Amino acid sequence: MWPFLTIIAIAALVGLHFWWRAKFNAQKNQRVAELETFQRRQQQVSLDAKAQQQVLFNSMLEGLLLLDRNRKIYLANRAFKNLFGLKIELRGKTIMEALRVHELDELVKRVEAEGQVFEHELKLPEFSERWLQVNAAVISNAAGEREGMILVFHDLTRLKQLERQREEFVANVSHELRTPLSLIKGYVETLLDGARNNPEVAERFLQIIERNTNRLDLLIQDLLAISALESGKMKLELQSVELRPLVEKVFNDLHSRAENRGIKLVNELPAMTANADVNRVDQVLANLVDNAIKYGRAQGTVTVGGEKTDAGKLEIFVRDDGPGIPPEALDRVFERFYRVDKARSRDQGGTGLGLSIVKHIVQSHGGEVWAKSELGKGTTFYFTLPAGHG
Ligand code: ADP
Repeated sequence: MWPFLTIIAIAALVGLHFWWRAKFNAQKNQRVAELETFQRRQQQVSLDAKAQQQVLFNSMLEGLLLLDRNRKIYLANRAFKNLFGLKIELRGKTIMEALRVHELDELVKRVEAEGQVFEHELKLPEFSERWLQVNAAVISNAAGEREGMILVFHDLTRLKQLERQREEFVANVSHELRTPLSLIKGYVETLLDGARNNPEVAERFLQIIERNTNRLDLLIQDLLAISALESGKMKLELQSVELRPLVEKVFNDLHSRAENRGIKLVNELPAMTANADVNRVDQVLANLVDNAIKYGRAQGTVTVGGEKTDAGKLEIFVRDDGPGIPPEALDRVFERFYRVDKARSRDQGGTGLGLSIVKHIVQSHGGEVWAKSELGKGTTFYFTLPAGHG
């Protein structure tokens, strides 16, 4: 009996052993598979986090630069590379190797010494006159050890350009106002000092004073117009405008000015209707025809003409046969206060703002304005307007 039982027990034990082993192996395999799945997920998660970080850094408007504890670049986002016009891999390079900007290298040393530097302005003449604002701080770990540095770059170039334009504008306006004002003051003082007792001299001086007050008045009107146009406060009252009769009206208004210089005014414009603000288009035509009279050839001809373009717009031109505009000044004449010949413009009572006003008005109608000129032959100004029904 015993041997039989022993055999059965051993067989049971062996069976149990194999059963346990099989079960154990199955469980082990399952755990290995679970572990592998977990690791894969972990990798996926960290890859996703890295990719998300990359997307986040690259979508920032500010340039971002991370340096390691050896002052080598650890990370530079897309905006940073764009600011410095770089396409190469920067990781592992020093600031000097990557950018060759001494001032930035100095700044990094300062941040290391002071812990942080805020609103540091960096001018980069070597990168097309770029202005940057840098905020930087040292990064430390929990034990207070220095791990690296973070630098954030904000592009100030546009802001600086606007600031410069504003300063130039204020300087120009002050100059333009001061010139007639000091003339008026001088002649008034001379009159008070006794010149008023000589009727002939007094008459001449008063005429000069009147001319200069008119100039001041014109300047202030133009400045107000520019300011209203630039701030978008001037609302257009669009309506159907017959252009040919409008040109006739402008010719009538400027008739005596043309006559003084013996200039013939010719209206070649075919019947056409614009969808525009009649007063503003009047201002555009008056400025262009007035310029053509002022700067055109004495005894010459000023012609206004135009056509409907294939694109369905109206293209109008104002042409003179004067001395013309040099090619390098052709685009600049639309800038505020830009004059080809300053003395001539002032002599003619010009404010230097006329073409700038023209440009704003035309553009606010969705049109374009440009000029063509040949020295010694004449100048033609063109502008487009949306066509109306009529
Ligand atoms: P301004 O008040 O000086 O006339 P504008 O803005 O109207 O100012 O014109 C700017 C400059 O463009 C003028 O000072 C002049 O030098 C030049 N200009 C404008 N129109 C003509 C033209 N038809 N022929 C030659 N030069 C012109």
